[in-house]
Amino acid sequence: MTAQATQEAALSSERRPGTDVSKADIISFEPATGAEIWRGKPCEIDEVVTRARQAWPGWAAQPLANRMELVRRFANEVRKEADTLARTIAREVGKPLWEANAEVESVINKVEVSIRSYAERTSQRKLDSALQGTMAVRHKPHGVLVVLGPYNYPAHLPGAHIVPALIAGNVVIFKPSEKAPASGEILIRCFHRAGMSSSVVQLAVGGPEEGQAFVAHEGVDGILFTGSANTGLAINRRLATRPDKVVALEMGGNNPIVVWDTPKLTDAAAIVVQSAFATAGQRCTAARRLIVRDTIYDALMAEVKALADRLIVGAPFDDPAPFMGPVIDNAAADGLTESFLYLLSNGGRAIKHLVRPDETLPFLSPAIIDTTAMADRPDVELFGPILQVIKVSDFDGAIAEANRTRFGLAASLVGGTPQEYNRFWANVRAGIVNWNRPTTGPSHAAPMGGIGLSGNHRPSGYYAADYCAYPVASGEMEQPRAMIGVGLK
Ligand code: NAD
Repeated sequence: MTAQATQEAALSSERRPGTDVSKADIISFEPATGAEIWRGKPCEIDEVVTRARQAWPGWAAQPLANRMELVRRFANEVRKEADTLARTIAREVGKPLWEANAEVESVINKVEVSIRSYAERTSQRKLDSALQGTMAVRHKPHGVLVVLGPYNYPAHLPGAHIVPALIAGNVVIFKPSEKAPASGEILIRCFHRAGMSSSVVQLAVGGPEEGQAFVAHEGVDGILFTGSANTGLAINRRLATRPDKVVALEMGGNNPIVVWDTPKLTDAAAIVVQSAFATAGQRCTAARRLIVRDTIYDALMAEVKALADRLIVGAPFDDPAPFMGPVIDNAAADGLTESFLYLLSNGGRAIKHLVRPDETLPFLSPAIIDTTAMADRPDVELFGPILQVIKVSDFDGAIAEANRTRFGLAASLVGGTPQEYNRFWANVRAGIVNWNRPTTGPSHAAPMGGIGLSGNHRPSGYYAADYCAYPVASGEMEQPRAMIGVGLK
């Protein structure tokens, strides 16, 4: 966005309906430069919810074919805006342009997947029942759903909730991360250009305070959340006595990648590096802990370090293209630096130090630290480019180490025999379990979610249709036909 466009965005946000003029502006900054990219007022919660409630009956009453047609048109609008959206994502969250382009492609591809998934997972069925009647199974939408988005995939992940929710007949209020409102604004503009009204799918800018207000609002029927475990727990706690509201929580992970015997150590190292450092480690599925067999430790770590040393860290539009960009902001970079120092001063041995070349910007080099000797490794998600390494001597020890976490999102085994992979698959606790593949890059056509602190058993991806509508069983006959067979005088 040019300075003029930024100014226009700021001005138009002043006029946006449903914004609260009394509150402080939400401002989004480019991580790579520190420059302001977007500014606007937080939304006015009651007004946004009231508009959504009024729009819902009309939207739900539309034939399914119309709703599907409109989301397909949305995909076309995203295609038209692909360049603007990708450049905005790259600027706003700092990921390399090639990666932002891939994110936009995912938004588009997810639409057809969501249509297929709705048809497969929530289709109408009719079964025979007693007295030649039928038992119909159909699905109904919940009503007003609020999608709370994270910053790391500011278009793809919200889209993966919004599109299935709309197909099912819900209206959607989308609150993007306060760190990525510009990307969220373009996404919602594409829905409106596709012909959906601004009440059926609304942009609601805000931060945690607005998120909390939506969670607590009586007019909201459900929360579809992607973000950190701490926030997910707060939402879960707040709605613990509200079984009437649907809550889908997609949270983080402390994901293990186990490397066992393999003749292809160079490939294994590439899988490890990709898993740990793509998107500067800011992926929910990023590998945080490399668990490696002692007999191959030296050879593997030499390859991993050599490759990590070659990764280019740079700004989104740099030429040659960087492998990874900065982390989201200086506060995140400070936190990661502190965490690295904590590991270092509590028994960790640095294999590759975390380096921050400019203290005023959040660029971090990929870091690797051996924490085998640490007595108490903190089971937290370090959301950045820090990989811990743990050396083990037997396969059962590797599985036990992989499971030493309250999270359970993604886990990979690299190398090993088919029998070892079977043991790994059966015993490791995670919603995504891979073999000779990175922990990252989940398929759109499969469920995407985790157990433990990673989710509440409502995986997104292909299974998002499941929580966007509820099943209704209906015993049906054309005419009433009944008699009482026993117990009459
Ligand atoms: P976050 O939890 O800080 O924020 C997510 C959203 O929740 C934002 O819109 C935020 O404004 C809102 N929010 C914050 N506090 C709230 C509260 N108390 N009540 C209601 N809403 C609140 O997460 P983030 O830092 O934006 O995203 C990174 C996290 O997301 C990482 O932990 C990552 O692992 C996770 N993530 C998970 C998945 C997945 O599919 N499982 C995918 C991507 C990211």
